[in-house]
Amino acid sequence: MHLRVERSESPYTGRVIINELLANNRAYVARHGHQVLPTEPQRHLAVLTCMDSRLDLFGTLGLELGEAHLIRNAGGLATDDAVRSLLLSQRLLGTRAIMVIHHTRCGLESFVEEELADAITADIGFRPPFRLGAYRDVDADVRETVAALRSSPFVDGTDVRGFVFDVDDGSLREVTPASS
Ligand SMILES: [Zn+2]
Repeated sequence: MHLRVERSESPYTGRVIINELLANNRAYVARHGHQVLPTEPQRHLAVLTCMDSRLDLFGTLGLELGEAHLIRNAGGLATDDAVRSLLLSQRLLGTRAIMVIHHTRCGLESFVEEELADAITADIGFRPPFRLGAYRDVDADVRETVAALRSSPFVDGTDVRGFVFDVDDGSLREVTPASS
């Protein structure tokens, strides 16, 4: 398995990119103006989703600033840290509903967990102690994440729903809990 580690790229490239983003931010501040929003998400919603760069949650869901907590990791999995964020989101900041959104053509979709772990172990010299999250069936992956949240003692899982986002047409499809 080939790991895409671009070691030849100069740190200078990253510096230039980040400097461009800082210039973008200065323009954003001018548009943003001064607005003091409450800390509690006004739609009482938390979204657990993938870090994928093609998923614009504000656009996809019609969300505005201050309306929802967006918790993202590779795959949108119910990792210990995602559960930590959801616990704090619900207990401290009053969110109730949880949307789990995984997506088509995910970077994790084409790998087998053990093979990926083997390749990374060969590359860095030791085995990651955490699950990497490779999967083959996105619907099954959504169901597994929803089930993990529903059974977690740290999360109020009464209002959790799972979805698949199509990165090519922008649509959301709900995944029913039953494995039908
Ligand atoms: Zn993904």
